[in-house]
Amino acid sequence: MQEILKRAYSYASDYLDQGIVADYIPELGKEDRNNLAGVLIDKDKEIYKIGLHDYKFSIQSISKIAIYLCVLETCGFEEIKRYVGVKPTSKPFNSIIELELSNKRIPVNPFINAGAIVCTSLLQKKYGKDTFDVILNKLMLLTDNENLDYSNSIFNSEKKTSYANRALANLMLSHNIISRELDIDEFLDSYFKSCSVMVSTLDLAKMSYALSEDGINYSGKSVLSFENARIIRTLMATCGTYDYSGEFAMRIGVPAKSGVGGGIVTAFINKFGLATYCPGLDSHGNSYCGMRFLNSVSDDLNLKIY
Ligand code: GLU
Repeated sequence: MQEILKRAYSYASDYLDQGIVADYIPELGKEDRNNLAGVLIDKDKEIYKIGLHDYKFSIQSISKIAIYLCVLETCGFEEIKRYVGVKPTSKPFNSIIELELSNKRIPVNPFINAGAIVCTSLLQKKYGKDTFDVILNKLMLLTDNENLDYSNSIFNSEKKTSYANRALANLMLSHNIISRELDIDEFLDSYFKSCSVMVSTLDLAKMSYALSEDGINYSGKSVLSFENARIIRTLMATCGTYDYSGEFAMRIGVPAKSGVGGGIVTAFINKFGLATYCPGLDSHGNSYCGMRFLNSVSDDLNLKIY
């Protein structure tokens, strides 16, 4: 296994100068695109690591898994379908036009910004000021790490420059998809804090392990139902890497969710935990070298499931 990780690391390292670090959230622009890491956990819970596996970065869009899970557990799938779909997107993760053109003007899926914002608003309605803690707690269970917290500097940076996300939230308020009883700043703060949670690649590999093991986390605790694990893996496969999801499925061949912080978490069925980190992104918002790292591991271990 360690040899396989070494090979993947060396292959991905050749592309370190290709990715572009996201700077539309200024604080993210400070990351070094030469930081690369990968962690694999095998069926016997043996952990294999390479690169900066304990370096902490912001989880960003990968938090959308926890947000959607909390809504699934609170409202159930049939109820959520009134607010957010499960369709792949051909538009960027913060697209406004997609929201305008979609059926009943509801976000097409929960793994793009509009979808996660409406999901956060549903949680805000139920949990009020505790909303972020509910999401953070779910992330702690998934990663099996009770020491997770958010970065105040990334949160503030994101909040200050949240022009597009605010536009999406306002549009959904104007179409009554988000309840007007809610305070826009409150539910957006819960969303931005969730995106600013700091994780390591090891944390994400443990999250991958829990999703792959049908909801049993690394310590053996049941943290989501079998059925919800299946729903999340399906969404990862179809919508997890933004408008690149089709090509990602073809090339890398495993369900995955990426974030603009540079992390990618994958999922399997009763097999592994696997995650990677490298903050240089491709034009869709996926880690450029992270995808190459995963491609190499997936080739070597014959993981492609399609
Ligand atoms: N916090 C980011 C945003 O809302 C998340 C985007 C992402 O990782 O896809 O723009």
